[in-house]
Amino acid sequence: MAETMQALVYDRELDPWETSRGLRKAEVPRATLDERADYHDRSRVLVKPRFVGFCGSDRGIWFRRAFKDMILGSLDKESREQRGPKLRRVIGHELFGEIIAVGSEAKRSYGLDVGDWVTAESHIYCGVCYQCRVGDAHVCADDLIIGISYDGAFAEAVKLPAQVIWRTDVDKIRPEVAAVQEPFGNAVHACTKVNLRGKRVAIVGCGTIGLFAVAIARALGATQVIGVEPVASHAEMARRLGADVVLSPGDSPDGYSHDPDLAARIRQLTDGVGVDVVLEMSGLNSSVNNAIHCVRRGGDVILFGLKSGDAIIESFDRVIVDGIAMHSVIGRRIPETWHITRHLLESREPNIHDLVWEVILARGEGPIVDFGDFEPGSFETTIQTYPKVILRF
Ligand SMILES: [Zn+2]
Ligand SMILES: [Zn+2]
Repeated sequence: MAETMQALVYDRELDPWETSRGLRKAEVPRATLDERADYHDRSRVLVKPRFVGFCGSDRGIWFRRAFKDMILGSLDKESREQRGPKLRRVIGHELFGEIIAVGSEAKRSYGLDVGDWVTAESHIYCGVCYQCRVGDAHVCADDLIIGISYDGAFAEAVKLPAQVIWRTDVDKIRPEVAAVQEPFGNAVHACTKVNLRGKRVAIVGCGTIGLFAVAIARALGATQVIGVEPVASHAEMARRLGADVVLSPGDSPDGYSHDPDLAARIRQLTDGVGVDVVLEMSGLNSSVNNAIHCVRRGGDVILFGLKSGDAIIESFDRVIVDGIAMHSVIGRRIPETWHITRHLLESREPNIHDLVWEVILARGEGPIVDFGDFEPGSFETTIQTYPKVILRF
């Protein structure tokens, strides 16, 4: 077997964070499983990726907008551990592939085997911290994120702990859809934070996760789903996925204040009441304020969109006086969200599986790129054209 493999990496030496962008295809040491060299490998598996999704967080790395500290800090730590410089991080975490080697403990305790088709929870949790022990592993105090603080899946092989591996039935979920279970799970987590059954729901921001959320909210019994999305192509996709109506928010002149017309339109659509639940999926400060102004008294605002730095909450007293519950959602509940994800995608009633394939993945025409054809310039155009891009290995 070759000593090296091809991978998409961030290279701290060749691509200084402040003056570069994109990812680089490079030869890196081949991932291998060797229980004698490292006893941890007993409970690990080696996966050969087949399809790997390009995430919003990967976009953040591509344009150097996010995850600088996590990537550089984890490379520093690995350099200290291996007593030599570790310069490159293999990116990518939304994987679907085949197990090609299995550690003895991964086989015995987790029932994993060579030939299994699998994806992975991207948060490698420690299993022993306070949160892990009380069943909140998704907010583990000591976690590693695949493709950010742990070498990822844009590669010919990736080594992963058995505890994050999730088997997938390829007779029920097609491989390209199987590769997006991790981001789909983000939307499932957001849509299960409160009960949506019989509720009127607004989804502010119909990017990839917001689009998933439209279909999931419908499937979970929301009676009215209102999308809020300025980009016309995304608004159209939200309609196809089940939104009753999609509204375009007005520009926020100062970048944070809400749009009074939007709030008025949503009240019109809800008998003057406001929606029961708003999912904020964009991270824009003005969208957070839109969410607070579109929800009814006593309603719930679920915050998922992420942007670093401070935010301004307008008329904060309204949140309290109107008894609005604010929740934030990160990652997926492990393993609960994964089970719901599987049930929603395997079920054909409603047929979210085919909607994801046809609407979000455009039946594979365009957003699926062969790893062998990867070229930074054209790839950048592709990730700016489609809500979800997948690399095929
Ligand atoms: Zn992701
Ligand atoms: Zn933990």
